Amino acid sequence: MAQRSQTLRTLLSADQISARVGELADQVADVYAGQEIALVPILLGSVIFVADLIRRLPLDMAIHMCGLSSYRGRATRPGELSWTLPPPDDLAGRHVLVVDDILDTGATLERVVRAIGGQQPASLRSCVLLARRGARVEPDFFGFRIGDGFVVGYGLDYGDRFRNLPYIAVIEP
Ligand code: 5GP
Ligand code: MG
Repeated sequence: MAQRSQTLRTLLSADQISARVGELADQVADVYAGQEIALVPILLGSVIFVADLIRRLPLDMAIHMCGLSSYRGRATRPGELSWTLPPPDDLAGRHVLVVDDILDTGATLERVVRAIGGQQPASLRSCVLLARRGARVEPDFFGFRIGDGFVVGYGLDYGDRFRNLPYIAVIEP
């Protein structure tokens, strides 16, 4: 089958990811020391990252998912954004940390931050595993800065496949 013959080039190994997620958790824990946070992961790509991150965060937290989808099927160009799960509406006065897999153009994060910001949270920050160079918004926390190339693995998919890879790879064109 054609879809099984993608060539993948490893970009970040499982060990590299694990080490960096630990450092990121330490950074986040320092900023929120003594505070309770409301984590808002953006489905679906962030699930593996957030599962690893929260187990290394010694903070009181509540987790509220939201879903915003910009890619349809096998397309690898950003399309129209649509909520697959609207953000929670009880974030007023809380310390909110939005978590996503990758910040590409920044449109997804901007949309979520706008939706949540209107609720007057006590603070609102973002944490992404991967941040594309040249994105129009900057995350408050990020794991790795990456260049061009469509990446998969560790939660990130290509047409619903490859989310279960324990490492991150670039799909060779
Ligand atoms: P943005 O709105 O910042 O352009 O894109 C963010 C979303 O697009 C991410 O949450 C992710 O779901 C998807 N995305 C962007 N770049 C990639 C990529 O290289 N690989 C995968 N699998 N998804 C991506
Ligand atoms: Mg996403």
